[in-house]
Amino acid sequence: MTTYETIIGLEVHAQILTQSKMFCGCSADYASTPPNTHVCPVCMALPGVLPVINRVAVEKTILAGLALSCAIGPAAVFARKNYHYADLPKGYQISQYELPLCHGGWIEVEIKAEGKVKRIGITRAHLEEDTGKLIHTGDASLVDLNRAGVPLLEIVTEPDLRSADEAHAYLTQLQRILRYLGVSTADMEKGAMRCEANVSVRPVGAEKFGTKVEVKNLNSFRAVKESLDYEVARQIALLESGGRVVQVTMGWDDERGRTVVQRTKETADDYRYFPEPDLPPLVIEPAWAEAIRMRLPELPDAKVARFIRQWGLDLKEARVLAEERPVAEYFEAVVEAVTTSVVEPQTAKAVTTEPKTVANWVTGELFRLLNAAGVGIEAVKITPTAFAELLELVNAGQLNLNSAKKVFGVMFETGRRAPEIVRDLGLAQVSDADALTDAVKQALAKYPTEVARYRGGEEKLFGWLMGQVMRETRGKGNPAVMKELLTKALSSDS
Ligand code: ADP
Ligand code: MG
Ligand code: ZN
Repeated sequence: MTTYETIIGLEVHAQILTQSKMFCGCSADYASTPPNTHVCPVCMALPGVLPVINRVAVEKTILAGLALSCAIGPAAVFARKNYHYADLPKGYQISQYELPLCHGGWIEVEIKAEGKVKRIGITRAHLEEDTGKLIHTGDASLVDLNRAGVPLLEIVTEPDLRSADEAHAYLTQLQRILRYLGVSTADMEKGAMRCEANVSVRPVGAEKFGTKVEVKNLNSFRAVKESLDYEVARQIALLESGGRVVQVTMGWDDERGRTVVQRTKETADDYRYFPEPDLPPLVIEPAWAEAIRMRLPELPDAKVARFIRQWGLDLKEARVLAEERPVAEYFEAVVEAVTTSVVEPQTAKAVTTEPKTVANWVTGELFRLLNAAGVGIEAVKITPTAFAELLELVNAGQLNLNSAKKVFGVMFETGRRAPEIVRDLGLAQVSDADALTDAVKQALAKYPTEVARYRGGEEKLFGWLMGQVMRETRGKGNPAVMKELLTKALSSDS
């Protein structure tokens, strides 16, 4: 049997976060109001109206293009893409065809299976408008034009992807970047990011690409992966049985887990693209593009590398923390607050909490509480300063780890500060040697059998005995001091 190589190119549509629509002043928030309330003569396509270009949408497209290492402009031309469908009242979509805003870029994607980073070429990124939405009910279909005219960013890759897993990795990376930029929520399940996959196979070693099939209706990462695996297997089986792949557009039937032919492939000619006569060419002055470049935030991969370098995190931690920009910023704000907090002169320790410890707390306790409450970082009531204050109490030996977690739970619930909670709950750590010596004595007196067994060589009982001493302190003992005293008590014969 011939071995085949898979070739994939992706076309992604992402809704751009703007206040108003692409060519009119209607709110671009299409989901939170009743159908057909965010509409006007422009987006309803009444005769005689004129479109006006949304500057923010153009700037966000350029921002995305820059993050994807694209060249910008120097000019872009809006074009009419003509086709008829019930969700498209104008009978054409305003898009960009020959001259897109951004072209010729790439992004780096980690290919886990090969343990390497691969560059995926970006053919173009352009700006267009979304269609309305059809709502199918019983025997009728209803049209909601709230979404008609919402700005859409289309990003097209070179045929550089070689498997469904690579396609998945690319989409994840793209999603991360768009979110970092604040260009799109890029939420696939909510339709804010949609994907069409072009896929073909060729015998390994062949120079020419095979005939491609375009798969639409991919509404989740899972659907992308399943449909590509399915389509690759279908094409190989077809070729192996002596058949030939026909260039068609297919839809993914999620319920039945298969691709279904929607239509034989239309070509660009079918759309009769022509320059939009109602809009002038968009000239991008280099100074404008440069001003937008200055607004590029640190991107996810750069942030991960810096977290490792600057804060001594390991790769895994750095990735978890950098995955979402607000989390990364929160983490760094806590680190900043810790390193700038004044260490009390009476505490011998001048060393502040390590960034690594902050990372552990954020990915451990904080994530656990966020998950349990089902909320995101934006809902956190603990300010970075208050977080740092708690960590410094632990660092200074005034609170043990268990108590600190308890206090953190209360802080998370109420937004109150740590010292106040420590006082109210009486949790201040007991480090006083006399008090702890008492606790050790009481624990040993209660469990003579275990003490004898320990002394007889059962060393693993030490941890259990520590637990009993901690109980005597009602959880407030300083573990380091307790350990020392317990070791001493157990090694002296009494
Ligand atoms: P079309 O005009 O049919 O839309 P394009 O040349 O615009 O085709 O390419 C659309 C997408 O298909 C791009 O992402 C491109 O990388 C990808 N592509 C092109 N040729 C192939 C192929 N033979 N196999 C897989 N993907 C392909
Ligand atoms: Mg296409
Ligand atoms: Zn409108």
